[in-house]
Amino acid sequence: VKGNYLKHYAFYDETLRNEMLEEQNILNDMETALKNRQFEVYFQPVYSLSTGKIISAEALVRWVHPEKGMLSPSSFLPIFEHNGFITKLDTYVWETVCKRIQLWKSEGKEVYPISVNVSRVHLYDSNFCSELLSLVQKYDVEPCLLKLEITESAYTENEKQLLYIMSQLQCSGFKILMDDFGSGYSSLNMLKDVPVDVLKIDMRFINGFEESTRAGSILASVVQMARRLKLPVIAEGVETREQAEYLRLIGCESAQGYFFSRPIPLQDFELLLAENKTF
Ligand code: C2E
Ligand code: CA
Ligand code: CA
Ligand code: CA
Repeated sequence: VKGNYLKHYAFYDETLRNEMLEEQNILNDMETALKNRQFEVYFQPVYSLSTGKIISAEALVRWVHPEKGMLSPSSFLPIFEHNGFITKLDTYVWETVCKRIQLWKSEGKEVYPISVNVSRVHLYDSNFCSELLSLVQKYDVEPCLLKLEITESAYTENEKQLLYIMSQLQCSGFKILMDDFGSGYSSLNMLKDVPVDVLKIDMRFINGFEESTRAGSILASVVQMARRLKLPVIAEGVETREQAEYLRLIGCESAQGYFFSRPIPLQDFELLLAENKTF
């Protein structure tokens, strides 16, 4: 028994060591990666369920690593949030989006609002709103074109500081999307007075409603409640036509998910926009 225990211990020790080495590797790589433009912004279109057309998109970051290939956010974001690098990376993503919107305008193309993810780390920075304002001003982008996705759990912390910054953002003209709505421990009651313009319903509500009538009813009630609160809704993680149809039926305005399109590189997104086909 003792021998086994030691073996296990050695095993865990080894994985822990590897994890730490891996984290150290990422730390060493990230500044170089930003300089060498290894971070790419992908776009996942958001569709109107009534017209069937693209109305906006969400910007999602990817790390195209020279040795490890394409890394998805879950493999590096937790580390970046931990060491603060996330604020630099997010700023890079927002700037990339603003530049693109500016380019669309100058080319006389139709301009779509793009939503970006905001790490909670940024919300503790009291200069955040003014920095964001100077960024959009630099590229002559109206604040309402850069929509800010803030995850539900940031609201549940319910700190005055956070709520203050969010209302400051709203007053400056930015639109705030509550991301992952319904995923955490938020109470519906909090929706009474938090600064938010759009609800993004978490994909957990979407997946599996076909198998259970309860899940379907819950989804319908959430959409109905949002409508009563005059909050537009985006459903996330829509993977089938049936899901899209049901969402339309219960009054959900818009949706994104693999059924419509995966997150795609900019060039592909612009092709989709040019076609502007209904789904
Ligand atoms: P999120 O903001 O909730 O983004 C939605 C995630 O669901 C994305 O994963 C997207 O690729 C995935 N997804 C979209 N449609 C479907 C679907 O139909 N089915 C399934 N199963 N998944 C779908 P991704 O790109 O891996 O991003 C994961 C998370 O990383 C994001 O979750 C967001 O919280 C964070 N993230 C991504 N990019 C950024 C960024 O630039 N800055 C910050 N701070 N966070 C980011
Ligand atoms: Ca998001
Ligand atoms: Ca989400
Ligand atoms: Ca999420």
